Amino acid sequence: MSAVDETHDPDLGSRVDSANAPECDFPIQNLPFGVFSTAATPTPRVGVAIGDQVLDLARVAEAGLLETPAAVFAEPALNAFMSLGPEVWTATRRRLSALLGPGETGLRDDALVPLPDVRLHLPIAIGDYTDFYASREHATNVGTMFRDPENALMANWLHIPIGYNGRASTVVVDGTAVHRPLGQIKPPGSDAPIFSPCRKLDIELEMGAVVGTPNAMGRPISLAEADAMIFGFVLLNDWSARDIQVWEYQPLGPFQAKAFATTISPWVVTRDALAPYRVAGPPQDPTPLPYLRQDAAMNFDVDLAVDYLPAGGAMATTIARTNFRHMYWSSAQQLTHHAISGCAMRTGDLLGSGTISGTTADSYGSLLELTWNGRDSLPLDGGAERTFIEDGDTVTLRGWCQGQGHRIGFGQAAGKILPAVDF
Ligand code: CA
Repeated sequence: MSAVDETHDPDLGSRVDSANAPECDFPIQNLPFGVFSTAATPTPRVGVAIGDQVLDLARVAEAGLLETPAAVFAEPALNAFMSLGPEVWTATRRRLSALLGPGETGLRDDALVPLPDVRLHLPIAIGDYTDFYASREHATNVGTMFRDPENALMANWLHIPIGYNGRASTVVVDGTAVHRPLGQIKPPGSDAPIFSPCRKLDIELEMGAVVGTPNAMGRPISLAEADAMIFGFVLLNDWSARDIQVWEYQPLGPFQAKAFATTISPWVVTRDALAPYRVAGPPQDPTPLPYLRQDAAMNFDVDLAVDYLPAGGAMATTIARTNFRHMYWSSAQQLTHHAISGCAMRTGDLLGSGTISGTTADSYGSLLELTWNGRDSLPLDGGAERTFIEDGDTVTLRGWCQGQGHRIGFGQAAGKILPAVDF
């Protein structure tokens, strides 16, 4: 498990002044990794966010200031860097912290690029994307709505981190517009399905764990090994077509209702950066089987918010606030369970946490729960109201860990919904 060290010192300042503001998402204690390009240099490459700047790691490495070869950072994804493993991740973080500190370090100003001048790309080449269902509150709400309030959790839920294999091909980065999906829906009172644009389009507020190092096929991993394999985390919106989902999901689970788009934030906040924010998850009763038992603090204290901007609206309304720390199953447990059969996990695999819902009605991570499947409409600032997403609406996820005088920000994962395509 990564340790708290001098890179987390709350008193540490940066030579980049904007990084020292208390509300800045990217102080020197954060140092998240992403992939960017500029108009002048359109080839995507690896950078680290600091204040309102991006540090171009290929340029820093070319100047001889990093031990890792510049070619690793000239890649259009973090995979080559991630595959070097946790010791290199930690050593690189320490080196970058020193380079961006206040002293004279030989870092040239031209290694920094203003954030407004860059285009941010999908930070990882995603091999496989798996989505879990790990919030007890979310699973209870959904079970209450669609099955039986008395038996809202399925019999397996407290024993297995439930998940399904999703689509990596449609994971997109913050700011990518998404067309309303088409599919089969069965309207209320109808005997047969119709082909239609989704009428119950929803979000799911999640975090994504990024797998940094692989395990071999046929070689399960321990919880400690799983924790060490996770490079970092992003915000993740698992867009969901509820009416398509309810018609298709039995008996094999979600399919097209989830396959059309998943939006992630562009900066991967490293597991190292989150070391001071580790917390124990909720007590697990019944005690999980031995391979899933965790006694270390495997959850993370990440404040989360969902902002909703209706089509034509002037300002967004925060419709939900919750925290990642409440998840029943940790990302390390999910990864351990994923590999226990012998499944090979690879560098660049993405694990969605599952919708993160709290215990109160203003902390639910989906419109399905916030409006109780459309029964209640959600009032928005400016007078609009919604049950599900309408064309032209924009949903933005935000997240941060609150430190002493600074915060470890995740940036944002936003997406605007466009009308369904003509077909
Ligand atoms: Ca989900």
